[in-house]
Amino acid sequence: MKIGLLDIDGHNYPNLALMKISNHHKMMGDLVEFVNHFTDYDIVYQSKVFTYTPNNGFHIHADLIIKGGTGFNGDVLSDLIEHTCPDYSIYPNLQSAYGFLTRGCPNKCSWCIVPEKEGKIRPNADIEEFLDGKKSAILMDNNVLASEFGLQQIEKIIKLKIKVDFNQGLDARLIDRPIAKLLSRVKWLKPVRLSCDTINMIRPVKKAMRYLREYGCTPQGYYVNVLVKDIDSAMRRVLLLQKWDMDPFAQPYIEYSTKKNISHEQERFSRWVNHKAIFNSVKWQDYNRL
Ligand code: SF4
Repeated sequence: MKIGLLDIDGHNYPNLALMKISNHHKMMGDLVEFVNHFTDYDIVYQSKVFTYTPNNGFHIHADLIIKGGTGFNGDVLSDLIEHTCPDYSIYPNLQSAYGFLTRGCPNKCSWCIVPEKEGKIRPNADIEEFLDGKKSAILMDNNVLASEFGLQQIEKIIKLKIKVDFNQGLDARLIDRPIAKLLSRVKWLKPVRLSCDTINMIRPVKKAMRYLREYGCTPQGYYVNVLVKDIDSAMRRVLLLQKWDMDPFAQPYIEYSTKKNISHEQERFSRWVNHKAIFNSVKWQDYNRL
């Protein structure tokens, strides 16, 4: 069979679902390629991760078109394909493995689609299921520290000496001394990522930072996501993070169920925080007057 893959979000981020679908079909002897609009396919898989990505208007020649991903309908892979090792060759510049050790989250933050889409936290895959001989991995778990299986996998990652980045961040509320000690033994691909989405997170983030630094978790500067809804609240959080030598990354708050547009001020504030040269040298009041 001739299989076409279409990554609607573009090729800026590797599409994990398409990598797994590719390997699944290649193992069955099928020919797999990214869609060429002049070719006829037996099946075309279209995947869209982000709801804001516009749909592709091209005409596709295929007997069957299968759409999936959060950006379309939330359809997920069958168990068989989900547990297939990704075909990393379709993104030749990829250095690291990609995957989820766990799925879901025990929390229900109002702005987050994870509880609705994935439900409660549960084991998903052993790191070796998708490592494919690579020495580093980007792990997209939503709350790995909330899972006993996730913690066992972190122990395994330490033993295997794999460098990792939990790119969705770690839950600061769960970083006590034993967890900080565990995390200090991990080889990090990037600084540890945390989130300070509301004022209530200031204290847990400060505590997590203290424990991580106490146990020598390196690098000791940390990325911290900051949701921007109310500017005064976000300002308080970013200034504290800056004072603590942490690196805030501002993201405008979007209520995913209503998808209300973000305001000009949310956007402007986020741009100010995320442009580090400006953030470190110009006050918000002065930037906002320009
Ligand atoms: S803790 Fe993170 S993943 Fe879990 S519901 Fe809140 S924002 Fe979503």
